[in-house]
Amino acid sequence: MIKGEQITKSFGKLQVLKGIDFSVEKGEVVALIGPSGSGKSTLLRCLNHLEEPTSGSIYFEEAHVKGKAINKVRQDVGMVFQHFHLFPHMTALENVIYAPVKVKGMNKTEAAKLGTDLLTKVGLKEKCDEYPNRLSGGQKQRVAIARALAMEPKVMLFDEPTSALDPEMVKEVLDVMKSLAHTGMTMIIVTHEMGFAREVADRILFMDDGKIIEEGEPQAFFSNPQSDRGKGFLEKIL
Ligand code: ADP
Ligand code: MG
Repeated sequence: MIKGEQITKSFGKLQVLKGIDFSVEKGEVVALIGPSGSGKSTLLRCLNHLEEPTSGSIYFEEAHVKGKAINKVRQDVGMVFQHFHLFPHMTALENVIYAPVKVKGMNKTEAAKLGTDLLTKVGLKEKCDEYPNRLSGGQKQRVAIARALAMEPKVMLFDEPTSALDPEMVKEVLDVMKSLAHTGMTMIIVTHEMGFAREVADRILFMDDGKIIEEGEPQAFFSNPQSDRGKGFLEKIL
């Protein structure tokens, strides 16, 4: 579904990604974990073409993504951020249907139906007409997930979707992500929720210092990391 070959990314003199190779199969759920500053967000932003890699190639459904194809791929790759990034002056429903109407030219009646269905799916049917400042963090993040899904993406990227939430709201967001995983959505999730990664991910990618150091099945990685850096990371957080 999505593949990176020797992706590097530098900001000025700082090389943040140092040659990343990986691939994610259709329907696979991959948890990307690693210390702060290791380049996880930068890698996700490259996959969504919010950042241009300095070198290397990204393939989407086997096609090399460059030039005009970038805009199409952006539609196929949904992204959910730590800080929601909802449009504050739009209701939950308006947030969800903005892109399908604007980008895909969907008619408003059809979009409203799609948006209501998606908000119902994330448990927010009653909040369609609410503005973001009247929603809790967990509710905002669920709107953000519904909004990303409204473009009918083929891949969903999550960048620490629960890190900004009060603890009691983490579960409602993880539950939505878990049910999405069960629908067969291809997902790449940056997370510090190790219990979730262990339970829901098919595979763990462990990054440190701009490289993928180790990958494996959750069970194997968490019980017996192969790399010293993987061991050190797990000792710090578990
Ligand atoms: P992570 O998500 O793993 O915490 P990031 O990808 O956010 O790591 O950041 C990796 C490194 O890249 C950090 O040192 C960060 O300061 C730097 N960085 C990220 N984005 C930019 C940017 N736009 N300009 C300059 N440096 C950046
Ligand atoms: Mg990050």
